[in-house]
Amino acid sequence: MVVLGMGRDGAGASSGGGARPRRIGIHGPPERGHRRTVPATEPRRRRSLARVPTRYDMDRDALAGILADEPRYRVDQVWDGLYRQLASPADLTTLPRPLRARLDRELPAALEAAAESIDASGATVKWLFRLDGGARIETVLMHYRDRTTVCVSTQAGCAMACGFCATGQAGFQRHLTTGEIVEQIVRAAGRARDDGRRLGNVVFMGMGEPLANYERVWPAVERAHGALGLSARHLTLSTVGLVPGIRRLATEDLPVNLAVSLHAANDGLRDELVPINRRYPLSVLVGACADYVRAKGRRLSFEWALIDGTNDRRSDARQLADLASSLPLPAHVNLIPLNPTPGYPTRGTPPDGVRRFRGWLRDLGVNATVRRNRGADIDAACGQLAASARADNPARVAVGRAEWVTAPAR
Ligand code: SAH
Repeated sequence: MVVLGMGRDGAGASSGGGARPRRIGIHGPPERGHRRTVPATEPRRRRSLARVPTRYDMDRDALAGILADEPRYRVDQVWDGLYRQLASPADLTTLPRPLRARLDRELPAALEAAAESIDASGATVKWLFRLDGGARIETVLMHYRDRTTVCVSTQAGCAMACGFCATGQAGFQRHLTTGEIVEQIVRAAGRARDDGRRLGNVVFMGMGEPLANYERVWPAVERAHGALGLSARHLTLSTVGLVPGIRRLATEDLPVNLAVSLHAANDGLRDELVPINRRYPLSVLVGACADYVRAKGRRLSFEWALIDGTNDRRSDARQLADLASSLPLPAHVNLIPLNPTPGYPTRGTPPDGVRRFRGWLRDLGVNATVRRNRGADIDAACGQLAASARADNPARVAVGRAEWVTAPAR
């Protein structure tokens, strides 16, 4: 392992150089009464997807097409190799050597690991992956005492322009393909296995808005369930509140978890924090959530990033409680003390304020948990993923006690 950069002072963390993607959206704390443009869910200038289909873009039928000249059982062998052994075609020694070589050519990997960082406790790993065309994404693997979870990206950048989120601050680059999403899960599953753990949960909560890339995200969800054998109850889609996507999700057979990033329970404040609220205001969003809960018979969760002095007052707790308990099954609330990002000066609610807010919610009968702040020292915590906005050289982005290493580290 070659350490490229480390140190508490973020030595070498100077900015500058490198192409900066288009910036859209709000970059400061909420200014009441100031109107900003509503972000388009599909950005005006569409950028292309990856040019070549990759290893995990193929469903079984597509793979069978590639193996049409081979005996039938090869499809099972290769599928098992990719999804059970988590291996590259080149490593599938059960296949004849020429076939291995051909598959390695025809089924290229989608992700090139540009860097890997591990937090001080060793329980959180963040990868910076480079994609076809140069876009960069981040993926975070988290080992907890009782489970292992991966947080995957669904877009390079994000068009939703939430000002407190580092990805939103950087703007949209492109959608990820199904293969690029699935490969993040496979890589994480492989690493978990190497660490003596089993990947049990996938949260679609990394860079991007999953429901703005529905066509590619949903097949990835199905692949995680069908091919990788993860239970639907251990798959969670997190949305900023794209109502058409929530409605579509309600029609799917797989009962995945839905998390809605609420952050404010009145339209005035939510318009400021989450600009898409101007297109799908709370009454419409909550209507779609209620229908989702009715359709699935399961509760959903609301995410609430606690921002000091902004959405952490008693009145906010009351409004949130009213909204959570208005659903056919009361929503669970996930509190996340706001993590720092470069473009948003307001800080997260301090720990005693977080406890107080949770106490108010509990007194109002709301089931609320505080999300453990994982990976903040390597910028891997919620809202801190911003690979696309950063410089080419991973050493430049070393922060805190992060240890950046050349990839692949294993
Ligand atoms: N676009 C999706 C998923 C990605 S964001 C969504 O909005 O849900 C994942 C979660 O992190 C969301 O709940 C988001 O609101 C939250 N988040 C974003 N920036 C944050 C920050 N700086 N601190 C804490 N949570 C943040």
